[in-house]
Amino acid sequence: MDGSGDQQKTKKRVAVVGAGLVGALNACFLAKRGYQVDLYELRQDPRKCEFVKGRSINLALSHRGRQALKHVGLEDKVIENGIRMSGRRLHDERGFKWTSPYGKPDQFLMSVERRRLNEELLTAAEKLPDVNVHFEKKLVSCHFDSGQLAFLDVNSNEKVDVEADLIIGTDGAFSTIRRELMKRIRFDFNQEYIPHGYMEFCIPPKEGEFAMEVNFLHIWPRNTFMMIALPNLDKTFTVTLFMPFTNFEAIKTEEQLMGFFATTFPDAIPLIGEKAIKETYFKSGGVGLPMVSVKSSPHHYKDKSVIMGDAAHALVPFYGQGMNCGFEDCLVLDECLDECHDNLEAALALYSKRRCPDAHAICDLAMYNYIEMRESVNSKIYYLRKKFDSLMNKLIPNSWIPLYTMVTFTRLRYSECIKRKKYQDKLINGMVVSTGLGTLVGGGYFTYRLLKAGVLPSNVWETFASFGQKMGKLF
Ligand SMILES: Cc1cc2nc3c(=O)[nH]c(=O)nc-3n(C[C@H](O)[C@H](O)[C@H](O)COP(=O)(O)OP(=O)(O)OC[C@H]3O[C@@H](n4cnc5c(N)ncnc54)[C@H](O)[C@@H]3O)c2cc1C
Repeated sequence: MDGSGDQQKTKKRVAVVGAGLVGALNACFLAKRGYQVDLYELRQDPRKCEFVKGRSINLALSHRGRQALKHVGLEDKVIENGIRMSGRRLHDERGFKWTSPYGKPDQFLMSVERRRLNEELLTAAEKLPDVNVHFEKKLVSCHFDSGQLAFLDVNSNEKVDVEADLIIGTDGAFSTIRRELMKRIRFDFNQEYIPHGYMEFCIPPKEGEFAMEVNFLHIWPRNTFMMIALPNLDKTFTVTLFMPFTNFEAIKTEEQLMGFFATTFPDAIPLIGEKAIKETYFKSGGVGLPMVSVKSSPHHYKDKSVIMGDAAHALVPFYGQGMNCGFEDCLVLDECLDECHDNLEAALALYSKRRCPDAHAICDLAMYNYIEMRESVNSKIYYLRKKFDSLMNKLIPNSWIPLYTMVTFTRLRYSECIKRKKYQDKLINGMVVSTGLGTLVGGGYFTYRLLKAGVLPSNVWETFASFGQKMGKLF
């Protein structure tokens, strides 16, 4: 759009509240559609803040997020500053390591730095002619029908009133816009804190190089808790320890802390460094940070407002999908606007109808994946199933796609991923039961014939029964 007089008059004014990852990307999408976008952010402009080393966490960017970035021409720029992770590198208690690839060679995650990504998105949004970014403006309240928003300027403490045709809430897991929606419409909301917290450590470079194999997401799975590490461009790894709050609380002294690391993550001690482990742990008060899961529905109000990203669906971070899903939200809204020829009322209703079930599905999948990452990866049956899935995928690539691949490397709806997984499980169970039954019937008949011929001793049934019991205990 050239912003000429008549067009300028008819342009819809959109207030996007929250200039985090999703808000900043959404501003790009909306401006490219020809909307007049004002982006409001509570915090300071991150590009003007001093860089605090080790503070910024990194994120795994995958297909859904990349597709959204690609749509506004930002994928290549973001990827340029990312590090490819083509599988999980697992560490056991003895320091033994093995690799579990994510899928085919062209299926990998990118480790990207949150802060850099946010800054790039903000710069890209600001370059567009119809985007204005307002930092240090805290949304206090809004009225959807009149389109009025009240902000507090955090520097002057003055109230700033603005008006918009459409109000978009990308203000994170504790969204003010969502809270306002809850007051005004029949709005379902579910918030769940999990009993686990997280704490971040850092693995510095070793002799100027990465201290571990770089192109992997490293995991130390310990069944009830785990530690992971993602590589950064500065050759460090950001390490995150996820564990029950009760475990954090049980560690009170330096001896207890080092004893815990020595028994559970011995190979991580020289990598992070004993001093850094102690400093990081006790500087944070020995308390893990909380993780919350939020489900809400609907995501919109008439043609007046919509919530997206964590504001609509905060996920626990175990599928690495929070940002990816939020980025895909922007793409889905864009698709809905296309389908409804920019009729906001129809497009927002369609968006909510489409996105709510998918947001709920990925919230559930994220909870499930914690068990896979910390526990299932230790089991032989898990790898057997993985092998079976990849064999089936080779044989019938369009019909049989492993769950992780569907979620991470396709844009299949999250709710569809769950449906397909359930169907695949049903088929496998059916196959196992029929193979088992077939073996049992065939084996029984064969034994009967051998008994009749006097080849087997008469107590063979007891032997079978005890074998059956042992197998039962095993599974
Ligand atoms: C430990 C951890 C690891 C993660 N790893 C991954 C990963 O690997 N991959 C992945 O895809 N996702 C990951 N996530 C999830 C991801 O961080 C979030 O899903 C993503 O940041 C959501 O972006 P958002 O823009 O919706 O919200 P946010 O990033 O929270 O941004 C919200 C913005 O709104 C602003 N704001 C809030 N209130 C107001 C107000 N009243 N007025 C004005 N502005 C306001 C905030 O200052 C903030 O800038 C992880 C999360 C955690 C905690």
